[in-house]
Amino acid sequence: MAVLDGLNEAGYRACLVGGAVRDLLLDVAPKDFDVSTDAEPEQVVAVFGRKARLIGRRFQICHVRFGREIVEVSTFRADPGGADAGEDTRELDDAGRVLRDNVFGSIAEDARRRDFAINGLYFDIADHKIYDYVGGLADVEHRCLRLIGDAGVRYREDPVRMIRAVRIASKLDLTIDERARPPAELVDLLADVPAARLFDEVLKLLMHPAGPRVYDGLRHYDLLRPLFDQTMAVLDSPAGTASEALIRNAIANTAARIEIGKPVTPAFIFAALLWPAVRERAATLEREGMPAAPALASAQSDVVTRQVRRVAIPKRFSIPMREIWQLQPRFHKRRGRQPERLIPHPRFRAAYDFLLLRAQVGEVEQELADWWTQIQDDPSTPEPASAAGTSRRRKRRGGGRRRKPSPESA
Ligand code: ATP
Ligand code: MG
Repeated sequence: MAVLDGLNEAGYRACLVGGAVRDLLLDVAPKDFDVSTDAEPEQVVAVFGRKARLIGRRFQICHVRFGREIVEVSTFRADPGGADAGEDTRELDDAGRVLRDNVFGSIAEDARRRDFAINGLYFDIADHKIYDYVGGLADVEHRCLRLIGDAGVRYREDPVRMIRAVRIASKLDLTIDERARPPAELVDLLADVPAARLFDEVLKLLMHPAGPRVYDGLRHYDLLRPLFDQTMAVLDSPAGTASEALIRNAIANTAARIEIGKPVTPAFIFAALLWPAVRERAATLEREGMPAAPALASAQSDVVTRQVRRVAIPKRFSIPMREIWQLQPRFHKRRGRQPERLIPHPRFRAAYDFLLLRAQVGEVEQELADWWTQIQDDPSTPEPASAAGTSRRRKRRGGGRRRKPSPESA
């Protein structure tokens, strides 16, 4: 690989590290490549010139661009007390320069600051050997996910490691070592992790072919609770079973689409994850006397406002998510021109897929979902009997040709 060769030729030690080494050993195609080196960030820049860009403040790393690919290059460093330790423990010299020894470290120290042993393996480009300071190779062989160090310490340092454990184990079909199982008493620490970081994590958890397995793992260790507390409140209630089926189906649906290369959007999964809470909240508001449409609108706002404090949802996803919800009542309006106005809506397709999920779990009649399936193929699908009397759709609007009903709709 060009980045490894470049560093090596410049006289530095250059290793592939982390997920990519792990995945290659497990015969999985790596998603990205991380490089670890004894070159300091500025030295990396000196090697790659304008292809390289320094990022990060506390721990500077370097992004090196080759064509469309970006390789993350980090300098071997010792752990000053956890990835997210609040305090900056670096020592500075008189000029404010970071003293090398307090941040940068040996390759063995670099290995120990990583989360799981299988993520702490180094492939050295100079001799093509794998360097293992943490027992990662044995774990690969036993397909076991083991923490480096003590769970109480490492999960407290960075609670996100608990969801990484579930994600990595589910995706790679590994057994989580007994001592690495997320302890119930630490799960709530996830509620304090910055919401933006958790958004990225949730995407990696669920937008994946192994999404359903990851979801089961999250539920098993109760890790969904700190992330989606409002959802959990419904899942714990009598309405829980159907709501959970809807969420599972949405995740399975996305996983299946990813597998066959169809486009997917996080908006759909977030819509499913939060829908139970939105629906319950809207029902409460309606019981208090609010009409249905404003009740749905205000339930959405309430739920989203509270949710984004835990797990951020960028506008580019929360807007379509809300549209998916907002369109649901319109599927009940099958009279006159309403359907032909709804179908061209840019969010129709996602909202219709969401309607199918709701039908699957008995939240709406299957007949309703089937009707919308049919009318997309055949715009002459008759309105249901109950609505037919007030039809306006059949009224001529000038000299349009009347469509013949197809055999199956006749
Ligand atoms: P994926 O296949 O999902 O990318 P990954 O293990 O490569 O999994 P990254 O987020 O790309 O995950 O991280 C790269 C490497 O950085 C990891 O393999 C691990 O060595 C280290 N790492 C990442 N996150 C943490 C963390 N929270 N604590 C300690 N080490 C971490
Ligand atoms: Mg990775």
